[in-house]
Amino acid sequence: MSQTQPMPFIDLAKQQKRIREKLDHNIKKVLDHGAYIQGSEIGELEKRLAQYVGVKYCVGMSSGTDALLAPMMAMGIGPGDEVITSPFTFAANAEMIMLLGAKPVFIDIDEKTYNINPSLLEAAITKKTKAIMPINLYGQCADYNEINAVARKHGLSVIEDAAQSFGATYHGKRSCGLSTIGATSFFPAKPLGCYGDGGACFTDSEELASKVRKIMNHGQDGRYNHVVLGINGRLDTLQAAVLHAKMDIFEDEVKARIRLGSDLSRKLKGITEVPYVAPHNQSVFAQFTIRVKNRTRFTERMSQAGIPTAVHYPKPLHLQPVCRSLEIPSGRFPYAERVADEVVSLPFHPYLDDADLDRIQKAVSMALGE
Ligand SMILES: *Cc1c(COP(=O)(O)O)cnc(C)c1O
Repeated sequence: MSQTQPMPFIDLAKQQKRIREKLDHNIKKVLDHGAYIQGSEIGELEKRLAQYVGVKYCVGMSSGTDALLAPMMAMGIGPGDEVITSPFTFAANAEMIMLLGAKPVFIDIDEKTYNINPSLLEAAITKKTKAIMPINLYGQCADYNEINAVARKHGLSVIEDAAQSFGATYHGKRSCGLSTIGATSFFPAKPLGCYGDGGACFTDSEELASKVRKIMNHGQDGRYNHVVLGINGRLDTLQAAVLHAKMDIFEDEVKARIRLGSDLSRKLKGITEVPYVAPHNQSVFAQFTIRVKNRTRFTERMSQAGIPTAVHYPKPLHLQPVCRSLEIPSGRFPYAERVADEVVSLPFHPYLDDADLDRIQKAVSMALGE
């Protein structure tokens, strides 16, 4: 790519070129059979994804957000209940907890991994606590050995938000299968993305899987037999067809993500603070995120060099207007607040080449200069 043309933040076009024939074939098959809702591609995908993750059950969902909502509904979480989660994440976590009438209880993050700090869990647990919802931010898993141990001791469920970490591992175990239930997103920009909205839940519990499957389809147990309150949380057959084509190359893409993540880190070391990956983790780098002091100046200079940047996320959830009723003052979560002021994500995807990495390195070095 020419040095003057802006670089894409995530290059989905390169990926599509690689699998276009398979995509056309899979999509045509759905157009031919016409089972747009709950077609055979869904069950086949669920089997394939469960096997990949290493759990017994997978339920395809309409989005990552619904994949967080349905398990909480299955657990009966509602008014008067509390769910412990991170203040430094996408809105969906606190949003779904509050939508059910429950209360998000935030704990601060670890300053290096940006995931919840498990040593703060005990102090946040009350009689009302029902679940812990850790987020695997930027593609790196939270510390589930610590989190699950606290959860077990207090009889709590753990809902793993793996929207950014599908394909990542923790102590060699795949993300989505690290706790009571895992939830991921197939939003196009996620590590495994479809061409619209999609998501999935993963669990070893037959009871929980069967509850989530009913809730996903209007609480039905057989057609028009509505046994529990549900939603329309179904994954589309067409999206499942797209995901089959993407799964064919996913292992290879994960390897490229891991290699490129460490290559880019090596190039940027000494110029800026590079992402920290805990020794027991393999991150899929859903985002390649660095920290800078003067972020506005940095992003402007990067943009002038044709390198797009993005900020995930500029404002912690406890300071968002929608959470005003929780009455949490600024300063309560110092790490989340400091990190939100400093993080900036660089272009990253499995199809970066050496010239791209060099161009990013040069631009970062220039943008951080005097
Ligand atoms: C993307 C994302 C979600 C929501 O997924 P959707 O498929 O967009 O609904 C939830 N949590 C995190 C951490 C995410 O990054």
